[in-house]
Amino acid sequence: MTKRVGLYPGTFDPITLGHVDIIERAAKMVDELVIGVAINRDKGPLFTLDERVKMVSAEMVKIARTTGVSIRVTPFETLLMKFAEEVKANFIIRGLRAVSDFEYEFQMVGMNQRLNDDIETVFLMADVRYQFIASRLVKEIARLQGDISGFVPAEVATALRAKFSK
Ligand code: ADP
Repeated sequence: MTKRVGLYPGTFDPITLGHVDIIERAAKMVDELVIGVAINRDKGPLFTLDERVKMVSAEMVKIARTTGVSIRVTPFETLLMKFAEEVKANFIIRGLRAVSDFEYEFQMVGMNQRLNDDIETVFLMADVRYQFIASRLVKEIARLQGDISGFVPAEVATALRAKFSK
């Protein structure tokens, strides 16, 4: 049987418990999981690419240990489909929150199918406790010195507090 390789791309600025939940679910479906951290200069990330990769990697060590799945964290700046081909992904994994995510994802899938129809996009939903979490809102709460401990891994909460205490 061919190896099932999944690619989960995102900005991860920073990684949240919503992302972690999706990754744990995705790990059940694949032999190898590639987490693609998008450079995304346009989005003006709060954390540098290096910081984002390090935070994602720290969480992945724990997930890889509990699931036994091989997980690789790789930055990318190319077109998503090109990157998916490079890492030999059979499918792309995306998380779906409320209706708001749907329209954007719907368009992306349509365009990506035109670029490479052999790579499927699979949508997963996080546990209800994490469905409302968005990196953008977590950053806003942290900036206003609110409690973010229920939304991100402990190390990420510490990094966010450090960013906004300067
Ligand atoms: P992007 O910049 O591509 O939107 P993000 O880092 O914001 O990247 O998110 C990566 C993926 O994770 C997207 O598919 C997004 O919809 C999904 N995601 C983010 N937060 C959640 C969540 N709380 N529940 C489910 N999916 C989520």
